[in-house]
Amino acid sequence: MIKIKDIKNKKIYDNIIFKQLFSYLDEGIFKPLFEIMNYTPKKAKNDSNPITEALKSGAIIYTDEGFKAKYKFTNTQSAELERWGAKYNKWTKTYQIAYNNIPNNVLVALSENQIKQQAQIKTVQDFIKELNANLPYMIDTMIFDTQVETILDDAGNTLKQNTKKLNVIVPELDENQKQAIARDYTYNMRFWVKEWTSEHLIPEMRKRVQEAVLNGYRADYVQKMLEKEFGIAKRKAKFLARNETAIMLAEYRKTEYQKIGINHFIWSTTMDGRERELHKELNGKVFRFDNPPVIDEKGTRGLPGETYNCRCHIIPYILNSPI
Ligand SMILES: [Zn+2]
Repeated sequence: MIKIKDIKNKKIYDNIIFKQLFSYLDEGIFKPLFEIMNYTPKKAKNDSNPITEALKSGAIIYTDEGFKAKYKFTNTQSAELERWGAKYNKWTKTYQIAYNNIPNNVLVALSENQIKQQAQIKTVQDFIKELNANLPYMIDTMIFDTQVETILDDAGNTLKQNTKKLNVIVPELDENQKQAIARDYTYNMRFWVKEWTSEHLIPEMRKRVQEAVLNGYRADYVQKMLEKEFGIAKRKAKFLARNETAIMLAEYRKTEYQKIGINHFIWSTTMDGRERELHKELNGKVFRFDNPPVIDEKGTRGLPGETYNCRCHIIPYILNSPI
């Protein structure tokens, strides 16, 4: 019996896909939205009041009869607010002061700021509406061909190295075969991105922006929502990159090993407490590539890596040396 070192799912494979996928999402969705929200008109001259400055930049907002800092009040800001007679509330972290007690020049800045926030949020609403209509077309322009071919080339080299001792000729994938795999990959990725954006991202953004409107055009709500969704999108892109690449490589292995007469593999589970109960039982067992075991609760049959978050791998092996 000869065991062969398997083609690894290198981290770099997931990374090059992630970078490509996330740049599409960032350029098409997040950058324009952040730009709308970060737009600050030029500062008026002779405006040295620390509160008006902060209102204009969005560092401070006025809501429910109180001033609230986006992050933290500076000492200068606190001193100025206390000078007007504002009282600090430890629990809500706001300086409470009635509208009528705010100095006139600051009231001007305040109303300008409210107009600006309204305009920003309306622009965001329009953008999301347009995005919802255009997203399917935008997603259909996402292409991962170069990335997939790079991965396949690297995996092919590894396969050649790992099977040296068998003295077999490993048939390389030709351009057409690589393109066919890349097309499938791109097609699947588009499918998942469409599903995620239409079922999560767009409805969530709409809902949160609506809340911002209902709360008196609160730009800080929208800003927070964007930061949160940006983080979620990053994690989603990482997940999809890892999953789709694992599925593609599982198929690639199966085809390539069978081509050189390797029909069996030993299932090897990463035992670290995070493995599926089902996969724990598969650990160490022998299977044929053309008759793989059940890998999920739905009864799907497949190879390691073909179900989400599966980190199991295979040890390809042949009973008798072909030499
Ligand atoms: Zn697994």
